Amino acid sequence: MTTAYLTHPDALSHQTPAGHPEQIARMTAIASALNAPEFAGLMRLDAPLGTEDQLLLCHPEQYISRIRKALPAAGIYQLDADTHVSPGSMNAALRGVGGACQAVNLVMEGTAQNAFVGLRPPGHHAERATPMGFCLFGTVAIAACHAMERHGLQRVAVVDFDVHHGNGTQDLLWDEQRAFFVSSHQMPLWPGTGKAEERGAFSNVMNIPLPPGTDGASFRRIYEDMVLPQLDRFAPELVLVSAGFDAHRDDPLAQLELLEDDFAWVTGALCDIAARHCAGRLVSVLEGGYDLDALGRSVAAHIRVLMEKGA
Ligand SMILES: [Zn+2]
Repeated sequence: MTTAYLTHPDALSHQTPAGHPEQIARMTAIASALNAPEFAGLMRLDAPLGTEDQLLLCHPEQYISRIRKALPAAGIYQLDADTHVSPGSMNAALRGVGGACQAVNLVMEGTAQNAFVGLRPPGHHAERATPMGFCLFGTVAIAACHAMERHGLQRVAVVDFDVHHGNGTQDLLWDEQRAFFVSSHQMPLWPGTGKAEERGAFSNVMNIPLPPGTDGASFRRIYEDMVLPQLDRFAPELVLVSAGFDAHRDDPLAQLELLEDDFAWVTGALCDIAARHCAGRLVSVLEGGYDLDALGRSVAAHIRVLMEKGA
């Protein structure tokens, strides 16, 4: 089988102010990294627009229309200190939602072994009715609910290794017994949530706060000792990944010390979990990653492993 890569040019039409770390150039950096000949075998697909029904899996109707109405006719409108919308933002965000749900369909139907959804804005900070931290809709949580509703899954794992706590995903899956959400993140760091005591309504949430300066060796040990055994116990029918690459040593927004090799390692470990429990079915969704060079190299390292494991 094969690795699917879903993206869309609409991701280039979500604008943020000059100097904002969540910038259009992130997409260009990823595209040029994936131009290398080793990625010729990717199944490259245009992400479809997400539907209203998909958004409604996680967000109330009033919230969706509030975001729609906030889009300016021109220029950029500020939703909060970090989060902005421009005329193209709704379509960009909808490509993320549609791409993630389509990726779930592809791996569930056996068209692809695994998939990477490379779009922006990211999604894991958006709560049920609050945009936050560059994010408008909870893409990965929507994909998890889509897997349950459309494909009838009873056990979906969501693993978030972005350097920031996936507060939005936690909010959206807090009382969802069919989901197991794991987030590893730097603490202290914005948004300030993600303490180990936050466990979900059914002990279905696992937070792993990491001190600033945590390096790849410690990160791997923590995954080996704490995260992977819990995932094995949960025995997922599908593994979803919130793949943020801002835990990289070169990233300007945080102080973890991971390198491309560490992202490759954790990707391999999660693919192995998927291989043991669900025939390798894994969908990875881009979240953060703000040093453009490190982002390109890290996404390449991540996809290289997806392709090896999916071959
Ligand atoms: Zn982040």
